[in-house]
Amino acid sequence: MIPPFLVELSYLAAAVCFILGLKLLGSPATARQGNQLSGLGMLVAVTVTLFDRSILSYGTIIGGMLFGTGAGLWMARSVKMTSMPQMVALLNGFGGGASLLVGGAEFLKAELAGINPPISTSITIQLSMLIGAVTLTGSLIAFAKLQELIGGRPVTFAGQQPFNILVAVAIVALATYQIATPEPILWPFYAVVGLALLLGVLLVIPIGGADMPVVIALLNSYSGIAAAMTGFVINNHVLIIAGALVGSSGIILTQIMCKAMNRSLSNVLFGAFGAASTAAAGEQRSATGLTVRSVTPEDAALQLAYARLVVVVPGYGMAVAQAQHQVRELAELIEGRGGEVRYAIHPVAGRMPGHMNVLLAEANVPYDKLYDMDQINGEFPRVDVALVIGANDVVNPAARSDPASPIYGMPILNVDQAQSIIVMKRGMSPGFAGIENELFYDSKTSMLFGDARASLTTLVGEVKAL
Ligand code: NDP
Repeated sequence: MIPPFLVELSYLAAAVCFILGLKLLGSPATARQGNQLSGLGMLVAVTVTLFDRSILSYGTIIGGMLFGTGAGLWMARSVKMTSMPQMVALLNGFGGGASLLVGGAEFLKAELAGINPPISTSITIQLSMLIGAVTLTGSLIAFAKLQELIGGRPVTFAGQQPFNILVAVAIVALATYQIATPEPILWPFYAVVGLALLLGVLLVIPIGGADMPVVIALLNSYSGIAAAMTGFVINNHVLIIAGALVGSSGIILTQIMCKAMNRSLSNVLFGAFGAASTAAAGEQRSATGLTVRSVTPEDAALQLAYARLVVVVPGYGMAVAQAQHQVRELAELIEGRGGEVRYAIHPVAGRMPGHMNVLLAEANVPYDKLYDMDQINGEFPRVDVALVIGANDVVNPAARSDPASPIYGMPILNVDQAQSIIVMKRGMSPGFAGIENELFYDSKTSMLFGDARASLTTLVGEVKAL
């Protein structure tokens, strides 16, 4: 046993680590430190809890730590940057599952011992199980969609929302009945858990793959709320604090992402974005029969070498091609010739928040050259060349001009206002939203077809040779 004041002091230290860690995560320059500090806080919290409660033997604790560290290292090293959203979804699911198990265990312990906990504890137990179960299955569906184990398109059926409401009402009714019944009964418990697991599936299947990041941020928030509830159940302060931090930061991130796509949260959750309307919009645009103009690497290199201001617009394709190092190399060559290079970062470019920032930071691109959408959008009319590298949806002018487009209203980078545009991609495939992009048919646009890394390597060679 550790003296109680020491336990609380350690928890306080852990909480301070979490808060400072979050603060440091606010800038790419300090994010790594922030992550390490938060990890240290978690290590303190877990270790103190395990020792304090004499839950496990020392050998098991050390074994568990070694296993956890090994698994974490393996995942961090082997999971590709482009698969990070799936990994986060899976980790959220584990968090929800843990809350479900702890809440369930506490419930069964009290029920089987014939103890009636105070009503506030009973409510928290039910909430911990309910939110944990919804997070678990919801996250597993999000994982399966992103991993393409199941189709990414929204799954909808007639009467879906009334049915979901019915399931939610049944859960509340059964949980209330359970709390109000003094005799030990188990069937409402199993029914609540079963229905909550079902609700997690029902809530996520109608959401399209393109909206999954928002859902993952939301589920992240749910996993935090479930953890905080569990903290109340087992009276663990650090779990309450950590859960509240995850819950609130997840909600803030969800809101930022919704704003970046100009969509309300209810539209994301219930709008079935990417179902029939997406396909219809794609078909309509293909029928216009516009042609594209391709450019050779030699001509593209000439344009870039003599440009005064070049804005690089990275997107998902740059991440897939892992072309960030070649991007930096090309930028340095242009700068060496007297040009200026900036990077325009759309908040949902790529497949996870901050995706482009992370990749460019990895390639040592200076942070002060990265511009947010609001900072750079007014500059595009004076940009000589906008170099779009594997970005598609985030530069689609239909978001501004076509009310029929599924992405209408989403803020985009105003690349079409640049003096000239070079787009690097492999073919004419659409982006994540599954719709065509008129930018590619613009008279100012030249397409440099090919894998982004291969094209950039050729471009670097061409600019060097000039
Ligand atoms: P998009 O998904 O719109 O487009 C990516 C483009 O990259 C494709 O058109 C593809 O065309 C091209 N591409 C793929 N591989 C390569 C390669 N090796 N070399 C060159 N090009 C390649 O990307 P954006 O970044 O513009 O937009 C992100 C989209 O993803 C948005 O719709 C956003 O809402 C959504 N989203 C965002 C998340 C986030 O948090 N950031 C998470 C999940 C989804 P081609 O095959 O012809 O080469």
